[in-house]
Parts: sequence; C-alpha cells; structure tokens
Amino acid sequence: MTDGKHLNDARSGSDPGPVWDEAPRWDEAELVPISALQHYVYCPRQCALIHVEQVWSENVFTLRGRRAHARVDTPGRRQREEGRQVRALPLWSDRLGLVGRADVVVFADDGTPYPVEHKVGPRHARRADAVQLCAQALCLEERFGRPVPEGALFYRKTRRRLPVAFDDALRAETEATVAAVRALLRQARLPPPAADDRCRHCSLREACMPLAPGRFHRMIEP
Ligand code: SF4
Repeated sequence: MTDGKHLNDARSGSDPGPVWDEAPRWDEAELVPISALQHYVYCPRQCALIHVEQVWSENVFTLRGRRAHARVDTPGRRQREEGRQVRALPLWSDRLGLVGRADVVVFADDGTPYPVEHKVGPRHARRADAVQLCAQALCLEERFGRPVPEGALFYRKTRRRLPVAFDDALRAETEATVAAVRALLRQARLPPPAADDRCRHCSLREACMPLAPGRFHRMIEP
C-alpha cells in the first residue's frame, strides 16, 4: 500500500523522520545503520572499528567528503526536470531493522523514488557503495509501497552518475550484509585485518595497524 502522507511529506521536504507503524520489531540496539553496510562490504574490520569501537579518523577523502556532503546533509527540496529532488531524507525499514538517510531522492511524477548517493573518493569501493544504495531502495520500497528498480551513485570527482540496477543478486547480497553486520555488532569482535590494497585508501590505517594485528587485538577481545 502506498503511504500517501509519507510520500507527500517526503516530496515536500517536511519529512518527520522514522515513524514505525506499530511497535518497532527491533530493539534500538539491534538497528543497523545503513552506512555500516558500506563499511562492512569494504572491510568488516573497518565496520567494527567505526560502529563498535567508535573510532573515526579523517583523511583527505573523509575531509573532502564532509565538505561535499554539507549540502546533501541539509534537508531541502527542489524541482528538477527529472522530478522533485529531496535531500537528506530519513530512511528506515522495520522488516530489516535498518535506519539511515538518503543523500538525495528524486521522485518521478508517478511517485517512484530514485535514490542518489553522493561519493567523494575514488570508485574503489563500488560494490560496497552499491549495497549501501540498495539498502536505501529497500527502505524506500517498504515505506512508499512502490518498486524501486534503480538508483545511482554520484561520484563528485567525475561529476557523473553511475546507474545501479537493484537486481535479485544485489538485493540478496544487501539483506545478507544486514544480517552479517547485526551479528558483528552483537558479538562486538574485531575481525582480522584485510592487510591488502584496501588499506591504502582507508582512513583508519593508523588506528587499525593492519600489519601489526597482535598489537591491536587488545581493543576487542571476548
Ligand atoms: S586499514 Fe585495512 S584492515 Fe584496517 S580497517 Fe582499513 S581496510 Fe580494514
């Protein structure tokens, strides 16, 4: 069923944020942030450092990202040729226990949402970015009762949108990632380091010390 009020609120930019239809299925501690899916697919250890240990570190990409996100983090709307564009739209899924926010959602004239996630760094984490975007689509489908077949990743460096089709494989991977992240957050264990090319682009290298795991395992031991 289409939630007409929420659709109108979202399209007008006066979205009130998460509203559970009934008592939410999940305890607050069990809710998975949508951004954690991106971190997990990139590197499970990065996900644990950020979402369990609350470690955060700036590098050139995160600094650029915060600057670039200043606009899309500010709620607002505008009419574009492609449809009504809403920024910083709160998202949630009661079915999956997900919460987060979409940088931009474009609503076509028939109400079909099209999420656009803004990315600043190089495209080295494209699959992780696609899973994050697909999670946004699953939230939008649940909330508005409409199929969301496609969205896009917008890479600021090239200023190009890369379309992402939400096919069965990507949806299944996204739902499996939600379960994996929830298990990681429950266990509060630090996975082993990737210690590969991913570390070159990671803002958490100093805290993680991927090549000296013995020194770092003190952080989360069962
Ligand atoms: S430095 Fe490497 S192992 Fe550590 S969190 Fe980053 S990507 Fe993962």
